[in-house]
Amino acid sequence: MKGIVAVVATLLAVLTALRPSPPVTRRPNVVVILIDTLRRDHLPFYGYSRPTAPFLTRLAAGGVVFERAYSTSSWTPPAAASLFTSLYPFQHGVLRGFQLAQRIERLTGARIRLSPVPAAAQTQAEALASRGYRTFAITENPNLVAEMGFAQGFTSFTSFPKSLDAHTILGRLSELAPQLRARGPYFLYLHFMDVHGPYRERPPLFDDSLTDASARRISAYDSGIRALDDGLQQAFTALGWGEDTLVIVTADHGEELGDRGSWGHGATLFGEVMNVPLLVYPPGGGAPRRVSDPVSLIDVLPTLREAAGQRPGPADEGRSLMPYLDARRAPPAPRALFAHLWRGDRKDGSERALKATVEGDWKWIGGEVTGAQLFNLVEDPGERVNRARAEPERVERLRDLYRSFEARGRKYAGEGRDVDLDADALENLKALGYVN
Ligand SMILES: [Zn+2]
Repeated sequence: MKGIVAVVATLLAVLTALRPSPPVTRRPNVVVILIDTLRRDHLPFYGYSRPTAPFLTRLAAGGVVFERAYSTSSWTPPAAASLFTSLYPFQHGVLRGFQLAQRIERLTGARIRLSPVPAAAQTQAEALASRGYRTFAITENPNLVAEMGFAQGFTSFTSFPKSLDAHTILGRLSELAPQLRARGPYFLYLHFMDVHGPYRERPPLFDDSLTDASARRISAYDSGIRALDDGLQQAFTALGWGEDTLVIVTADHGEELGDRGSWGHGATLFGEVMNVPLLVYPPGGGAPRRVSDPVSLIDVLPTLREAAGQRPGPADEGRSLMPYLDARRAPPAPRALFAHLWRGDRKDGSERALKATVEGDWKWIGGEVTGAQLFNLVEDPGERVNRARAEPERVERLRDLYRSFEARGRKYAGEGRDVDLDADALENLKALGYVN
């Protein structure tokens, strides 16, 4: 009997080895929707009490919601470049924006070199184009322009740098619809500015009965989410994304809404600006799933690669989120995540920057701008109680994780990164609030 069992086992092993690889299924369309400035705790499926996003909430019920997704910075150029390339800001070097450069130029007359997405880095559009995808982008953020390298890999790239309204993007989308519906899968990147300041008081969600100035501003911010949500539903229905499309919804960063007395973004790396929503809706939808592992914008490109049947990129710092879409697959091993915010250069050329490490339940913020700050994200999700003095060894560990990664990580320096600033220019920047 033992002999028979052994023979059958061997036969099964041989048959398994000979089994043809699974049939190549049709590659899904891929749509990445970036909602600029959307903090995740203002969405109902992350616990918000106001109905800011009924459509996205329904979408979340058929997809995977990442409860701890982090940006790699707290303003558009570095964060979007991380999304596009799966590299951290100090690697891709997109630390200064187009708007910033324009302002410097206007103020000083100096010639400024931009810090675009490095041509040598592979972007999500290039990755999917290499798999036969047709690639389209429609963006509204003035930094998401061809001069900044964000058009790299797109066959169709439309930029509306002065628009803050989804209708502009939806209008262009309906022009492109016949092309999108043509044969073959497509990759589409949409970058919406409805939620970005200046906040507009938009129906149906804006509450005009509020009298407190801060409450009105927050209500206006929320009203932008709701207005966009309606637009997203229109696009989803019109283009049939419920059938054969992988849809990823995220943000480049959040927004300070008076949490610590300030408004806006790009000044800190606290949770209100670093925590982003991340929703992955698989083709045709699936069972709802919530993931509490920390993930990052750098994980989106590896996810798209796997969806398109491509191997991981050799330079990818992130990793595919696809295992989270399949309950039978083991989740990836824990790892540390990083963030970086450039805050100006010193005369000797060294940078002033905020840096952050998230590992497990802990987050460290440090760098050349501030003293060490350490937060326990479980006990203190609002990041209010600095534990740095009480836990110096943990501070050291998270800081060393950052430093050693920064030292060994692949970098794309030297692609138009230097900006010559004289003392006057720096003063002007300070006056504009860009450098502290
Ligand atoms: Zn942004």
